[in-house]
Amino acid sequence: MNDESIYAEASKDRAAFWAKLAREGIDWFKEWDENYQWEPPYYRWFINGKLNMSYNALDRHIKTWRRNKAAIIWVPEPPNEKERVLTYFDLYREVNKFANVLKSLGVRKGDRVGIYLPMIPEVQIAMLACARIGAIHNVVFSAFSSKSLQERMLDAEAKVLVTVDGYYRRGKQINLKAEAEKGVEGTPIQKVVVVKRMGMDVNMVEGRDYWWHELMKDAGNYCEPEVMDSEDILYLLYTSGTTGKPKGVEHHTGGYAVQAYWTTKWDFDIHDDDVFWCTADIGWVTGHTYGCYGPLLCGATMVEYEGAPNYPQLDRWWSIVEKYGVTVFYTAPTAIRMFMQWGEEWPNKHNLNSLRILGTVGEPINEEAWLWYFNKIGGGRCPVIDTWWQTETGGTLINSLPGIGPFIPTVAGRSFPGTSHDILDESGNSMGIGEGGYLVQKNPFAPGMLRNVWRNPARYKEYFSVYAEKFYFTSDGARRWDELGNIRLTGRVDDVMKVAGHRLSTAELENAINSYEAVVESAVVAAPHDIKGEVPIAFVTLKPDVAPSDQLKKELIKHVDATIGPTARPDKIVFSSELPKTRSGKIMRRILKSLIRNQSVGDTTTLMNPESVEYLKKEIGYKE
Ligand code: AMP
Repeated sequence: MNDESIYAEASKDRAAFWAKLAREGIDWFKEWDENYQWEPPYYRWFINGKLNMSYNALDRHIKTWRRNKAAIIWVPEPPNEKERVLTYFDLYREVNKFANVLKSLGVRKGDRVGIYLPMIPEVQIAMLACARIGAIHNVVFSAFSSKSLQERMLDAEAKVLVTVDGYYRRGKQINLKAEAEKGVEGTPIQKVVVVKRMGMDVNMVEGRDYWWHELMKDAGNYCEPEVMDSEDILYLLYTSGTTGKPKGVEHHTGGYAVQAYWTTKWDFDIHDDDVFWCTADIGWVTGHTYGCYGPLLCGATMVEYEGAPNYPQLDRWWSIVEKYGVTVFYTAPTAIRMFMQWGEEWPNKHNLNSLRILGTVGEPINEEAWLWYFNKIGGGRCPVIDTWWQTETGGTLINSLPGIGPFIPTVAGRSFPGTSHDILDESGNSMGIGEGGYLVQKNPFAPGMLRNVWRNPARYKEYFSVYAEKFYFTSDGARRWDELGNIRLTGRVDDVMKVAGHRLSTAELENAINSYEAVVESAVVAAPHDIKGEVPIAFVTLKPDVAPSDQLKKELIKHVDATIGPTARPDKIVFSSELPKTRSGKIMRRILKSLIRNQSVGDTTTLMNPESVEYLKKEIGYKE
């Protein structure tokens, strides 16, 4: 597929185009009756089609020469520890066994299973085992705190949790079981399965906690894949919105499988001899679609790395690319900027000639980082596929395709064949070339997109209500680049920020800070950052009897770590006895944003407390 005509073909009848792809890319137990239905604001794909995701990711490959092909090359963080290679047959056996384990623990179709695991192959095994028996997995990022885990397990009403004793991160041993222990408290979780990765001394509760390897010893080798409806839920993944509570995005089986398969195949031009490495953690949607389902559906070989990019040295990633001959490499702009800062001598130590395609995701990529990636990592040979998408979209949606292009730094590209987007102003008028506005997706919505927000349809409806149920509102700003349909993304237009590619809601962070007893209120805004893209800055008002101090800042940061996780840490905390407010008492985040960017704050005379702005100017060393 390296022919421009695919776009024209797809746009003739988008639903029919996806139906053709569904037939070609996925094995169905029963074909669907109807391609697509749209009953605003709900849409459905491949109505009454029946399939199983794990069957598509495993069974169909083991019937071919791929049975002994490497599916996962797992690289542990300690450089002297040996890698683990799981062939498709190995993975198939493990998944079947673990599916039987889950059944023996009472998990049935439709039940929710929490997965709180780092980057070890058991994470893919657990996900695929859930998919095999029709259980709904809910992966929680291993760097999230026990409170975040608990919140998600409660909302999803999970029955079983799969976790680990511990794992390595930057040479340190992290005891995840201790976090999991706190996280299951007060939740409906009845059983906890613990993978022994480290052999750490952990507390096991009799009758609740079981070692993975002990359960697997006696598990049967085969588990019949459950016949799933195209619209049965495959997984929930919680993501940050504009409120303090994360939302459980629902992805359904059939459409998601189709989009995961074809976007992996076309975006990365995947062939059987490729070695694909997506560096995203499995706790994020990129890890789900391109670190598990997409490559496995394609029968590809993928690399999975446990640890930090700079351990034991700043060239760890490039040593992995060289050692395993990675051909397709997918990462985030924040990582590229980090490597840029560390210097080209680190990639230069390695032969990166195996690379053929580079990808990025997570935030807009700046031109300097794009060029560095293209020249220093790709040796000027590899196209950079800048993929725009979201947790909600399940798979990539806007990017240039290899072999077709064009590849313009900072311009993601066109709508994936079979989808279409528009850029609108607030009243719904389409913007012209060179103009900016809000990015929306047009009907038919891509098959892998969210079908609902778990037990919260009101939040689901918000995606569609912005433009009267005509479009899906992405919450991203964008600029129309040219008449071909290329698009430049300009960042979120809501109170969501991307910190080192991780999605974070200001409201969630404010809730965490406000729950600290010395705090009266806070306002969090995003500040631009050279490496992380954006970082949170917290403006905090303390109780009148509490004196501001550096010690208190440290304690607040610890509190944020314990409430959300270290990814949410404020970069800076500014104490102020008052925050700028309107006369009706609303905190003016816009003014705070301007202050930290050294931009004009405009007229402040209508504020309730204009003096607070003067105070903050001095406090942060504002220079207009
Ligand atoms: P998440 O749901 O965590 O994957 O975050 C989705 C958000 O990340 C989008 O709404 C965008 O703001 C941003 N994003 C993802 N990929 C890109 C990209 N290639 N270019 C610009 N922004 C991106």
